[in-house]
Amino acid sequence: MRRIKQAAGKIFDSGFSTPPGMFDRTVIFQLRLLLGYAALVHSGFFLLGLIFFRSPFMIYHAAIVLGFFLFSKYIHSGNFILIYCLTFVEIGVHSYILYWFLGSMCAIELYHLLLVPVASYSLLLPYSKRFQTCFIILAFVCNAAAYTVFLLISQFYKRPLMVTEPVLTLFLVFSVVTVFGMSGLETYFFLSHIIGDFRIVEGQKNDLSLKASYDALTKIYNRWEISRRLDIAFEKSRKEDTPLSVCIGDLDNFKRINDTFGHNAGDFILKSVAQILNANVRRTDPLGRWGGEEFLLVMEAEADVCYRRAEILRKLIEEHLFVFDEKTIPVTITFGVASAGETTDTSTALVGLADKMLYKGKKEGRNRTEHQS
Ligand code: GH3
Ligand code: MG
Ligand code: MG
Repeated sequence: MRRIKQAAGKIFDSGFSTPPGMFDRTVIFQLRLLLGYAALVHSGFFLLGLIFFRSPFMIYHAAIVLGFFLFSKYIHSGNFILIYCLTFVEIGVHSYILYWFLGSMCAIELYHLLLVPVASYSLLLPYSKRFQTCFIILAFVCNAAAYTVFLLISQFYKRPLMVTEPVLTLFLVFSVVTVFGMSGLETYFFLSHIIGDFRIVEGQKNDLSLKASYDALTKIYNRWEISRRLDIAFEKSRKEDTPLSVCIGDLDNFKRINDTFGHNAGDFILKSVAQILNANVRRTDPLGRWGGEEFLLVMEAEADVCYRRAEILRKLIEEHLFVFDEKTIPVTITFGVASAGETTDTSTALVGLADKMLYKGKKEGRNRTEHQS
C-alpha cells in the first residue's frame, strides 16, 4: 500500500507541478468540492450498476470514484494539469461506456458539454497564458476528435437499446443532473473568481490613483495633480474663451513657526490650513499643495471673484485659533492672484504672474492678498 502511495505521489508530484503554496487555497477547496461531487455522482452510477448487475459498469465507476479521491488527495501538489487531462479522458471514455451499456439513445452529447466549464476553470490555474491557451485548445481538439469518432461509430454501428425505457429515463435524468450540476458549480466558481479578481484590481487601481493624486500630509491634491487640473482648466478657458484665475497662497514666516514650536507643530499647521482652505472653496475649484507651505487654488472665474475668495480664506486663517501642545500659534497667509489673459499664454506663465503678486504681498508686509492691477 505504501509503495502504491509513493508511486502515486511521484506521478502527481512530477513534471508540470507548480510549487506548493503558490496556488490559491480557495481554488484547491473548490476543486476538491467538484471532485467530491463527481465522486458522489459516479457512486450513484456504481449503485445503478449494482442494481442492474452490470459488473464492468460497476468496476468502471468504482475505479472512477477511487480516482477522484486520489486526485483530491494529491491536489495539494499543484499538479493540476495531470488531474485535468484525466478528467478530459474520463469525459470521453464515459461517453463510450454509456453508449455501450445503454445503446444509441443515451444522449451522450451531454457529457461533452462538461468540457466547457472544465476548460474555463483551468484558466484559473497558475500557468502562463500561452500554456493555458495551448492546454485548452488541445483539450477541445482531443474531445472534438473523441466525439467525432463516437458519432462515426454510432452511425455505422448502431447499438440497440440495451436497457428498458424506464432505466434509460433514469440514466438520462441522472446525466442531466450531473452535467448541469457540475457545469453550474464550475461556472459559478469560475465567475466568482473572475469577479473577485476584477474587484481586487479595481480596488488596487483606485488605491494607487488616490496615492498618486493626493498629498500624504494635507490630503488635498499634490503638485502633480493640481498642475494637471490647472492645465485642463487652462486649455478649456482658451478654447471656450472663458475666464480663469489662480490664487497662490504662502504661509507667513513658516520657518519661524517650525523653529519656535517644532516640526510637528509645523505639520499640524499645514494640515489644519489645508482643511480650512478645502472646506471653504467650491467643490469645482481644484485646490492643491503647490510646495512646502504653498497652496494653489484654480478658479474658472474673473480676477475679482478670485480675489474676494482669497480674502475670505486669508481672514479665516488669521482668525482661526491654532492650538498645538496647549500652545496657541499665530498663523497668517499671503495670497497672490492672477487671471489668464494676453500676457499669459501658458499655465506656467499664469502661475508665474500669481507668484509675482505673492512676492509683492510679502514685500508689502504679509497677511494680505495682491492681484494684478
Ligand atoms: P515667508 O513669509 O517669506 O514665506 O517666510 P517663510 O519662513 O514661510 O519662508 P520659506 O519659504 O523660506 O520657508 C518655508 C518653510 O516651510 C521651510 C521649510 O522648512 C518649511 N516646510 C516645508 N515643507 C514642510 C513640511 O512638510 N512640514 C513642515 N513642518 N515644514 C515644512
Ligand atoms: Mg512662507
Ligand atoms: Mg514658501
